[in-house]
Amino acid sequence: MTQPVPAKPDPDKFVPFTARLMAAMRAKETERTDRLFNDPFAHCLAGKEAFTFVEQQLKEQDRAYIAVRTHFFDDFLLTQSEKANQIVILASGMDTRAYRLTWSSETKIYELDQPQVLETKTAILQNARPKSQHYAISADLTQPWSHLLLEQGYQPTLPSVWLLEGLLMYLTEPQVHQLLQTISQLATADSYLGLDLVNIRSIEYEPYKGYFRSGFDEPEELLAEYGWKAEVIQPGDEGAHFGRYTDKLPPRDVLDLERVFLVKAHKKA
Ligand code: SAM
Repeated sequence: MTQPVPAKPDPDKFVPFTARLMAAMRAKETERTDRLFNDPFAHCLAGKEAFTFVEQQLKEQDRAYIAVRTHFFDDFLLTQSEKANQIVILASGMDTRAYRLTWSSETKIYELDQPQVLETKTAILQNARPKSQHYAISADLTQPWSHLLLEQGYQPTLPSVWLLEGLLMYLTEPQVHQLLQTISQLATADSYLGLDLVNIRSIEYEPYKGYFRSGFDEPEELLAEYGWKAEVIQPGDEGAHFGRYTDKLPPRDVLDLERVFLVKAHKKA
């Protein structure tokens, strides 16, 4: 007799849970002797349910991607923080960069995510000390949120560094455009932005089908609309495999396959 397929949880439950999935994958990477980074908080932040989901539903390359992405954006943030001391991490989830990386005493890290995610994280990390000036801001990023960042001392006239890691695919296309517009109003010339995107075909990618809501085949064009010059790389490319992500994707003009893009962008003057 075939087993009934379990119903997928509602997006309101699953999307916040993805923060824990990312932590579970970072915990697994941290256990490796050849790890690409060390996240000593990830195991506690993930919880048992997330480890079970990772074991049962995610592929080896999905895990490799999160390891590569984490390392890639660790380097990006550390490099750009030498030029700008305001870092804004949108949809930070269980990101622990404020705690596990070494920052200048001037660096301010603003993290925004849904209240239930940040409350869980703050409770679990209550005895840990951030290594930067650190601000956790509860916000729904599909609603107006700029004022919340400004109230915490963010200075829109000074250069900033932004990270949108594992976020845009959970927003609709109009919501992505609105978010990029808001960021572009808050980020002065010479600011930097890091993000990842899936292509249109990946909206159907399991186990995220039904939760991914947008994809883009041309990230450079999307970002150019908002004044950013983007460099786009795919996991597996030189500079984005770190010996961990072993699939090399065919050239970008081959459209009928799933892709994810790692993007670093600079705001033009
Ligand atoms: N950036 C983190 C990382 O890479 O580990 C978390 C990524 S997780 C895949 C997606 C995150 O997006 C979740 O923490 C979720 O709460 C957040 N998110 C999705 N939609 C959001 C919204 N409308 N407002 C605020 N956060 C949102």
